Amino acid sequence: MSSSAIGSSISIREVTKRYGAFTAADRISLDIEPGEFVTLLGPSGSGKTTLLNLLAGFQSIDSGGIVVDGKPIHGVPVHKRGFGMVFQSYALFPNMTVAQNVAFPMRMAGVNRAESDRRVAETLDMMRLSEHASKQPSEMSGGQQQRVAIARAIVMRPKVVLMDEPLSALDRRLREEIQIEIRALHQAIGSTFLFVTHDQSEALTMSDRIAVMEQGKIVQVASPEEIYRRPRNRFVAGFVGESNLIEAEILRREGGALTLRTRTGHQFRAESRDEVTGRNVTVLVRPERLRLTDTSGPGTIPARVVSALFLGEVLRIEIELDSGELLLVRCPDRAGHALPAIGSVQHVSWGAEDGWVIA
Ligand code: ATP
Repeated sequence: MSSSAIGSSISIREVTKRYGAFTAADRISLDIEPGEFVTLLGPSGSGKTTLLNLLAGFQSIDSGGIVVDGKPIHGVPVHKRGFGMVFQSYALFPNMTVAQNVAFPMRMAGVNRAESDRRVAETLDMMRLSEHASKQPSEMSGGQQQRVAIARAIVMRPKVVLMDEPLSALDRRLREEIQIEIRALHQAIGSTFLFVTHDQSEALTMSDRIAVMEQGKIVQVASPEEIYRRPRNRFVAGFVGESNLIEAEILRREGGALTLRTRTGHQFRAESRDEVTGRNVTVLVRPERLRLTDTSGPGTIPARVVSALFLGEVLRIEIELDSGELLLVRCPDRAGHALPAIGSVQHVSWGAEDGWVIA
């Protein structure tokens, strides 16, 4: 058997789902390439699970449609869609062994015993579960049980794998470990993955592209770098990573490069999308892009230190500008780099490429 499937293309077109008067999915469109790993990221209630359930076929669409490999899937029942699925609760069969759990989809599909045994062994090996094949789920840790659920979802090498918060019941270290495994698995089997999470770092780590959702809509779809560095709006900037938002007035514009002035009258440069219009804007600068110095220099802005914490690999320093705006600075711990005293005046600056206009 070849280990890799060719993933399906998925085209979600203007899909709407209502529960009574409430619109859980609001004219959502999203095109996913064959073999892509796309994550739906958003706060609780933003419609991620709803969209996944519409694709899986657990719920019906009110308007719009979904096309998989060029064919509409409207009316195709869940089991005929042939998708692999993993949920937060592992949903393993408690009275079957690990191997029997993983073999279950093949039993249902009538795959012969020899072929089934071979595929189960191969899949258990991929998920590092071979030595647990004859255990019952109750004899396994949470992380191991979720690996079994993943193995069961991919044993048939489905062209599409759907995962709904599969790691949220696990502790952080285990979560990070399985994130890397799922990523490797995706590369190995080549299926199209759609993954739901409300955890931004999980989305950044795993995805080819992230679709950020808010109130039943997708507000931005882009690569992790683009989402983090060039968020479309305040919501995306605030939901993914920590953000400093600085009010400023645009003085000059040369293409995407802007010269601006803060409320305290200091000039700086930043980048923006072409479609940003208007004079008064908000500029995002991520905390790790800010530089703090004891002495003033060209382009620095004075700021008073409000709090300063040593976190190990980084220093986390909160400063207040004369405008009253609070900024968070994260700088790597370096030899001879002392925490500034609370109340002391420091000088903050950032480069032209560090500021991003979001509104
Ligand atoms: P979470 O991370 O909490 O799972 P989510 O982004 O996956 O959130 P959904 O589960 O898709 O969000 O829910 C979106 C909205 O639709 C929520 O406000 C929810 O209360 C509502 N909703 C979901 N399912 C139903 C249902 N069967 N009946 C009524 N309302 C529902």
